[in-house]
Amino acid sequence: MTLSTADIRRTFFEYFGRHGHQAVSSSSLVPADDPTLLFTNAGMNQFKDVFLGTEKRSYTRAVSAQRCVRAGGKHNDLENVGYTARHHTFFEMMGNFSFGDYFKKEAIEFAWTFLTEELKLPKEKLLVTVYSEDDEAFDIWEHHIGVPKEKIIRISTSDNFWSMGDTGPCGPCSEIFYDHGEHIWGGPPGTPEEDGDRFIEIWNLVFMQYNRQADGTMEPLPKPSIDTGMGLERISAIMQDVHSNYEIDLFANLISAAASIVGTSDLSDKSLRVIADHIRSCAFLVCDGVMPSNEGRGYVLRRIIRRAVRHGYKLGASDIFFYKLVDALTKEMGEAYPELADQKPVIEKVLRVEEEQFSKTLSRGMNILNDALRELEGDTIPGELVFKLYDTYGFPVDLTNDVAREHDYNIDEAGFEAAMQAQRKRAQEASNFGADYNSTLRVEQQTAFTGYSEATGESNVV
Ligand code: ATP
Ligand code: MG
Ligand code: MG
Ligand code: MG
Repeated sequence: MTLSTADIRRTFFEYFGRHGHQAVSSSSLVPADDPTLLFTNAGMNQFKDVFLGTEKRSYTRAVSAQRCVRAGGKHNDLENVGYTARHHTFFEMMGNFSFGDYFKKEAIEFAWTFLTEELKLPKEKLLVTVYSEDDEAFDIWEHHIGVPKEKIIRISTSDNFWSMGDTGPCGPCSEIFYDHGEHIWGGPPGTPEEDGDRFIEIWNLVFMQYNRQADGTMEPLPKPSIDTGMGLERISAIMQDVHSNYEIDLFANLISAAASIVGTSDLSDKSLRVIADHIRSCAFLVCDGVMPSNEGRGYVLRRIIRRAVRHGYKLGASDIFFYKLVDALTKEMGEAYPELADQKPVIEKVLRVEEEQFSKTLSRGMNILNDALRELEGDTIPGELVFKLYDTYGFPVDLTNDVAREHDYNIDEAGFEAAMQAQRKRAQEASNFGADYNSTLRVEQQTAFTGYSEATGESNVV
């Protein structure tokens, strides 16, 4: 059975709707009144107070498709993008929730029935994990559902004890994995090869039982509840018979749009995947009101934009390009997220201006970095250089790191931190004399942008 990403989204809502779940819209990527959280990172975030018992709703079962960003904070997948088949900075998490209504047995039954009867996934390709001490969940999987015991794996690490942050609702969980086949490297969960992409986690069922306090103590929740999260792109990959999330309908379209905008024909280039991933997080973050800046959420956004721009430059983009992808994105996701279509002009403008600003220094920064890489002895890029790229050319550390990783180099993070500290001290001293040091930080050269290609000579490493 082949289903489009949009079909799967709809099927999920229909299935859980039939079982008494109230459809709830995705909340913003900027968490409402939750200073503990950088960005919305799971479907349960908007229900946090309902789990804690401090907020009441008119329903006890809910279903949602939540837009999530994992690019900072406790859950951070930025470094995985371009390297794994299954991670995005932005993704959609489908979820069903019970607020003191059903618990483990029904949650497991719902998930299994949805996968094996609605989507008709072959049972033999699925395996599950439970928290090592959770005999009850093991028993339900084995005796109630009938999963062979060798396919139920006990895990004792935090992988099977889900928490949204350092404090807040949490509990043991049970994850469902799909085996993409022997030809792909990777081992089942709990083995040293588990980080490979053969066995891919598709659904996490969290048995919410505690509220973790700042001092680490676990306070029982007023009513045990259920929180689940199923990655829409991961299930789409399975339903569309492809291995990587980046090959599903939605990504194939974004990648081909990106290829034609930057002017490349090699659709398998890793940089295209990075760009296709980053346009989703950047566009949705702006849509939800985040603006590029030098701190907090805005700095995370700036870092992602600059990373995407660097990858476009690497592919040979000859002009400001990133904002042009908003059009293709809106075609893919505007129906499910009308706010994206409404905000399109604003998103395009913000991305365009940010790229224009960065592009003035990108080529020169890249040339300096490439020269340094060519002359580098050893495999570590000095902290001083990382700092100079950051301070003068607007290269966030993770951007330099992204380049370094492509060439198997490390960066000297301690040296960078030391250079930062020294600068803070200088800034402090200067401000003691009343000088406005900050206004001289990150001075962009006033030259006009004339295209990325001008600085890309034969000799470039990148
Ligand atoms: P993984 O171990 O593969 O990193 P996770 O255990 O961190 O996943 P959860 O926090 O359990 O993920 O999130 C619930 C579901 O959301 C996962 O089972 C997966 O299907 C999906 N998911 C999580 N992170 C990502 C991501 N970065 N990109 C796409 N889908 C994701
Ligand atoms: Mg993860
Ligand atoms: Mg996991
Ligand atoms: Mg998980």
